[in-house]
This record gives sequence, C-alpha cells and structure tokens, in this order.
Amino acid sequence: MIFGGIEGGGTKFICAVGTAPNDICAETRIPTTTPEETLTNAITFFKEQQKQLGPLKAIGIANFGPLDVRLDSPTYGQVLPTPKPHWSGANLLGMLHNAFDIPIGFDNDVNASALAEHLWGAAQGLDTFIYLTVGTGIGAGVFTEGKLLHGLLHPEMGHIPLPHDLAQDPFEGTCPFHGDCFEGLACGPAMEKRWGQRAETLPDDHPAWKLEAQYLSQALTSFIYTISPQRIIIGGGVGSNLNLLKMVREQTQALINGYIPSQAILNEIDSYIVSPDLGNRAGVLGAIALAEEAWNQKQERPQ
Ligand code: ZN
Repeated sequence: MIFGGIEGGGTKFICAVGTAPNDICAETRIPTTTPEETLTNAITFFKEQQKQLGPLKAIGIANFGPLDVRLDSPTYGQVLPTPKPHWSGANLLGMLHNAFDIPIGFDNDVNASALAEHLWGAAQGLDTFIYLTVGTGIGAGVFTEGKLLHGLLHPEMGHIPLPHDLAQDPFEGTCPFHGDCFEGLACGPAMEKRWGQRAETLPDDHPAWKLEAQYLSQALTSFIYTISPQRIIIGGGVGSNLNLLKMVREQTQALINGYIPSQAILNEIDSYIVSPDLGNRAGVLGAIALAEEAWNQKQERPQ
C-alpha cells in the first residue's frame, strides 16, 4: 500500500511517495512554472516511482488556493481566479485523472496541513482546531468536530478585516482585494514593505514584531470566539518566530481578558497556541493524508 502526495506551492511543487512521516520512500522538488509543465513533471516522477515501488493506490494534491473544492461543482478540482499568472482555471484534478486511474484527493494546502497535524502532529486527539500559516500569505485550515471545514468553498481566514489604527500604523496594506485586511497587514511581504527589510532579518527587539503580534492576536481572538478551537497551530515563515509566538500568547490572553473560562486559555496558553509538530513538512504529508482519505472513501463507496 503506497500513496503519492503533491504539495503545490507558488514557487515549487514537492512530490512524495509513502504512507506517513517516517515512511517516505521518494521525494522530489519541481519548480512551479505553467500548470501543464509542472503537472507533467509531477506525473513523470510518480510514473517512475511506480516502476520501482509498484502501483500507487491513490494520490493527494494539496495546492495553493483559491480552489474549487465543491464535489458537486462542474469546475471541481480547478484553481479559481488567482493573481498568479497561468494558474486561473487550471484543471489540476483533470490532468492527474488523465494520467492515473486511481482515487485522487484534492484540497488546499492549509486544509491538508491541518489534516497532517491531526494524524501525526500537534492536533492528535483533537476534533476542533485551526492550522494557521503566516508567511507569503495568510491562510487557515479548520478542522471542526472531526473533519475539515469546507462550507461554501473553504475558509479564507487570512482576509478578515482587523482594527487598523492609521495613527499607529499608516501602512496601507498589501492585499490586492482589500488593502489592509489581516493578510494585507501581517503577511511576510507586508512586513517587508512596511519596514524595508525581510521579516526574518528583523531583530527580536524590533517594533515590527510587537505590531505583528498585535494583528495576530486580534485575528486569533476572533477565531477563538467564532470557531471555539481546542488548539491553534501557527506555522509559516513568519509564524515560526518563537519570540512572536510568545507575544501572541500573552496578547491573545489579554484581549480575551478571562471571558472564556477554559483552562486552555487561562492557564495553559503555551500548549494552546503552538508551533506545528511537522514543521514545514505538514503540506506534503497533508497531501499523502488526502490520498489516504481518498483511498478510504473509495473502499467505503465503490463505484
Ligand atoms: Zn485581503
């Protein structure tokens, strides 16, 4: 029993074959160019692996969004309009189905990362939690009462409006749709544009981090009130800063101000707002998890 997983990112596609974090047999990185070229390279990798390892049972694709993940939609499996050139309308699922007659799981990268953290990482045993990534963009995968939340499309928690005090922070934001939404104010490129240097080069005592923690805590407080997660996992290039994480815990606790009478927030905030256990492996492992899920569904509902 072996599965394929594709983590489709804006700069690279990571393809892997295996079943779990400690059982990855092969892996490759493919530069993201056009959908046709990138997917063709991914398909070639999996065909090569099949020659050595035997047939794949299923493939999962965890791609950057926005995606059409509605099973009943005529454009299910496609990339929705995106500012990324060539990728709007790309039929990712169709291209894979043309090459492989096996079940194919399909979801966005943050939902897949949430799934991987649930199976193997920091959300094991929980049934409602949030996986938030703060990096080039801001996105969240949401697991509610035992399964990934999709709803209308999928949550877009990076684009919620936040209180923005222009006297304190005159930066107009980077989101092409909203300007100063959460992502527009707090993603990595917003930090770089506001402060004139890349986030990872800003020292821990730079005021950038205090402001970043302020925006993250405001967003987290809204998420805690609306979703009531049992834990929040924060990953991504910016989100992995441990000094930031510490400030976010303190400020989130202060904003909630005792209103939620849960030990998790009152006294155990260090294990409530956490880093991913799987680190930057969550995406590709999430793709493997999507494949396993697609395979299991096929067994339950053979066609
Ligand atoms: Zn936005």
